Amino acid sequence: MHELSIMKSLFRILTEKAIKARAQRIRSITICIGRFSGIEPDLLHSAFMAISKETLAEGAQFHIINKPLQIECSRCGTLQIKDPQIPFACPKCGNKNIRFEPNDELMVENMEVEIANSNL
Ligand SMILES: [Zn+2]
Repeated sequence: MHELSIMKSLFRILTEKAIKARAQRIRSITICIGRFSGIEPDLLHSAFMAISKETLAEGAQFHIINKPLQIECSRCGTLQIKDPQIPFACPKCGNKNIRFEPNDELMVENMEVEIANSNL
C-alpha cells in the first residue's frame, strides 16, 4: 500500500519535529494533497490511524485538504479551479492556451502540538 509508506515517512518527520519542540502530544495534523498526487485520502487517513497508535500522535485529529488546481491562462492570468473536472480551456474566457501548475505534491499544512509548561 502506497499510502502506508508515504504516511510512515511523513509520520517520522512530524514526530521528530514535535519532539524537538518538546511537545508531549500532537493535537492535530493537516495535510494538503494535490489532485495529481495519486494519493487516496481515505487510505492516507487509515494509515495515519494505524501508525499513530501508542505514539504521541495517538488520538490526534487528522485533516486532509485538497489543493485546488491552478492554471495559468495566457489571456486572463492565473485562476484557481475547484471543480474536480479538469478543464482543457480557460473556464473564464475559453482560451485554450493554458498551463497547469504542478499539482502532484503532498504538503504538511499545519501541525498543532501540546507543550508542557516548564517549571521555572
Ligand atoms: Zn482565460
